[in-house]
Amino acid sequence: MRSAAYGWHGVCVSSVVKTTHLQKRPPAGPSGSTPSPRPAIAAGGPAWVNDVHSRLTPTRVGTVLRPTGRADLVRLVRRSLSGTGGISVAGGRHAMGSQPFGTGSIHFDLTDVAAVGDLDSRSGIVEVEPGVMWPKLMRHLDERQPSAPAPWCIVQKQTGADDLTLGGALASNIHGRGLRFSPLVQDIESFTLLTASGDEIDCSRTVNPDWFRRTIGGYGLFGMVTSLRLRLMRRTTVRREVTETTVDRIPRLLESAMDGGCLYGDFQFSTAPETDGFLRAGVFSVYRPVGLHGNQRSHGAPGEFLTARRWAELITLAHLDKARAFRTYVDHYRTTDGQQYPSDRQQLSTYLPDYHQVLARARGAGVKQSLVITELYVPPERLVDFFDDVRADMRRHETDLIYGVVRWIEPDRETFLPWATGRRACLVFNLNVRHTREGRARAAADFRRLIDRALDRGGAYYLTYHRHATRRQVEAAYPRFAEMLRDKERRDPRNTWSSDWYRHYRRLFDTA
Ligand SMILES: Cc1cc2nc3c(=O)[nH]c(=O)nc-3n(C[C@H](O)[C@H](O)[C@H](O)COP(=O)(O)OP(=O)(O)OC[C@H]3O[C@@H](n4cnc5c(N)ncnc54)[C@H](O)[C@@H]3O)c2cc1C
Repeated sequence: MRSAAYGWHGVCVSSVVKTTHLQKRPPAGPSGSTPSPRPAIAAGGPAWVNDVHSRLTPTRVGTVLRPTGRADLVRLVRRSLSGTGGISVAGGRHAMGSQPFGTGSIHFDLTDVAAVGDLDSRSGIVEVEPGVMWPKLMRHLDERQPSAPAPWCIVQKQTGADDLTLGGALASNIHGRGLRFSPLVQDIESFTLLTASGDEIDCSRTVNPDWFRRTIGGYGLFGMVTSLRLRLMRRTTVRREVTETTVDRIPRLLESAMDGGCLYGDFQFSTAPETDGFLRAGVFSVYRPVGLHGNQRSHGAPGEFLTARRWAELITLAHLDKARAFRTYVDHYRTTDGQQYPSDRQQLSTYLPDYHQVLARARGAGVKQSLVITELYVPPERLVDFFDDVRADMRRHETDLIYGVVRWIEPDRETFLPWATGRRACLVFNLNVRHTREGRARAAADFRRLIDRALDRGGAYYLTYHRHATRRQVEAAYPRFAEMLRDKERRDPRNTWSSDWYRHYRRLFDTA
């Protein structure tokens, strides 16, 4: 389905409306207003920008620059270094905590710095510019290996949306639905970084390793990545195996899937609070390798089976009749049991950036609403009691949960600010948020309670999706956060690389 919500993979929308979220007029409210096309190169003055998914981070930047290629990028950045409002950097604009935007900043839109460079077919490493999005990279890899029996392909990407850049992925240290992978840092061989002094430096595990560790997962605060080298894997064919089950059976199913060599998998669960299955019943899907995969045709991407109409029905149902939405989804999913996909293609799930309009039409006029995600990490053995706790909490507070999925991650022992400090179950919750003061305050309270439940179990949360965590929560999940802020100021004393996200944390930690 092509997805409006994180991880609803497998639905296809035949015509996806492209929008830009950049406008010269102020937005009507916190949700922003109708997006206008991206300007060819530069907006040439203040402009409003916003994130794609929540539309809750409208920001008035000083100007927008849209370089075309790496050389142009380096030249424009060097020219901008003496500015006073800082430089902010955006790729696909899916982060929802204002990481890509800084009020009054010189704002770089990197989506045209997007060349795919050399593929080393011996080592399986490809060089890309930071604005490359996953579908383009995958297309190029296919085109360059037309008859390879075992072509190189990506290891992992985000599921739930595809038009996300490699630069944004590196800066957030993303993950996909791998069962045996660490976050993206494991796939980064090296990158070049433009620092606040205007120097372009190489960074890898052996060259400038301290910059390497800080930049990955550093949300653009240590410099601008101008190119990166990504490690690939040999493409395999994977067979999807779907089991309708309940969360208490997941540990056993997971163990057996992992023992059987499954590479990917997840558990998508019911969000219908009026049913017994709420946060209990779901579909557990795993992807079992069944052989190497050349460029021959197969089932293609899982997203090629449902139409736009069915997708629209499902997203609407998920808001209006959660029990029926869950049943419809499970029934669809079960029909895909046994299908085979290339290991990279099964990670695609086209995203409808204007899902808000589908919902507004279904609801009729009313308060603007959108989805905001949170992702929580708990040790896998705490999954069942975590769900018990969250179920009671969400019922008590009538939390408007639209979609949820569990995935798994291996530890990240490399980055400075790791979110996967051990093997973790990753719980993703998409909440519907009303764009009123009260609606946003309520969402903030919902997110804080969820974070506390993960922290109580030795877990953490993802910094990407919002910035509602309290200082205590940030410090518990990321004990080196304050050290990271101090270190950033040492390396970038003029705060050249800036964002409203960064400014928020400077205030929260009293370092401003
Ligand atoms: C629907 C949806 C589904 C998602 N699914 C997943 C998922 O499955 N797994 C997951 O881990 N995350 C997921 N995310 C989160 C997403 O991966 C991150 O927000 C990611 O950063 C988005 O990439 P982007 O290109 O949109 O980056 P942006 O949002 O534009 O930027 C994100 C950060 O990267 C920085 N940045 C961008 N380019 C550069 C550069 N060249 N140099 C330095 N810094 C740079 C920006 O300054 C910013 O701090 C999802 C988000 C949404 C909305």
